[in-house]
Amino acid sequence: MARVKYYYDTETCKYERVKVKTSDIILNLLGFLTLSVLIAIGLTFLLGKYYKSDKEKVLLNENEKLKEFYSILSNRLDQVDGNLASLQKRDNNVYRLIFEASPIPTSVRVSGVKNDKAYEKILKSGLAKDKKELITNTFKKVNQLKRKMYVQTKSYDEIIKMVKDKSKMLAHLPAIQPISNKQLTRLTSGFGMRMHPLYKVAHFHPGIDFAAPYNTPIYATADGVVKRSEYMGGYGNTVDIDHGYNYVTRYAHMASFKVKPGDKVKRGQCIGYVGSTGFSTAPHVHYEVLKNGKQIDPVYFFFNDLTPEEYEKILKLASIKNQSLS
Ligand SMILES: [Zn+2]
Repeated sequence: MARVKYYYDTETCKYERVKVKTSDIILNLLGFLTLSVLIAIGLTFLLGKYYKSDKEKVLLNENEKLKEFYSILSNRLDQVDGNLASLQKRDNNVYRLIFEASPIPTSVRVSGVKNDKAYEKILKSGLAKDKKELITNTFKKVNQLKRKMYVQTKSYDEIIKMVKDKSKMLAHLPAIQPISNKQLTRLTSGFGMRMHPLYKVAHFHPGIDFAAPYNTPIYATADGVVKRSEYMGGYGNTVDIDHGYNYVTRYAHMASFKVKPGDKVKRGQCIGYVGSTGFSTAPHVHYEVLKNGKQIDPVYFFFNDLTPEEYEKILKLASIKNQSLS
């Protein structure tokens, strides 16, 4: 039964019964309902936020794991891309250079990458933004790798054709290290700006230094004719070999010679021994590759006696900006 309310009327000096209007009742009811709905929404939100059902927990856990695995996959793809980049570098700087084919520009190596249907599907999916980005980026990487590998394969096909025509030329191109370097520990200074061992200032180092004990044999790195074997200022005892095809190799600071000008030499033939003559701070051979009379980085001419892993290691060693032995 509804409660009856009274009020004191000062005019009649009596308690009068309060008349409740229907509209007031409806308004009260509506207010109560709105409040209830709001409380219900609030409670559901809080429960959803702090309380997860077992199924939700499993799904969230799976989600996190998927994200983690995608990140790992994405990192692996970056590594593959890195390996491919060194193949591309070697392709452009060695093989294509040797055969006088113009290097393939990066724009060609990465162009024509199209986003496939799967990619569109991911974009249209209801996934959260961060997950969409992670997956689409991984897809992009895979597509780019596919394209780069395709271009690389084509380039190798082209080179194989050129090799068949030029086997004689190949024997005359520097392709090994000038001393035995099985453990890869001999390369001490690479080509480029290096610290001068005496003046302690940056200077251009036009070759690669291989440190080795006195009288370690030094080998011709390709077939050719000895052009010079003499004392040559700062270079000390030096042998120059002319390989034809505009290539010359230089071996400096030798202790003694085993060849004289005019001698025909074969790749791998001993031409002299390691010393420290001329301007040198320790026994080593300073090795240069000259093309058209200009020194170029010899590191790109060690392709005969190195596995890809060893070559990677040599590239790293040669890039360290240390002090040269001169
Ligand atoms: Zn040097």
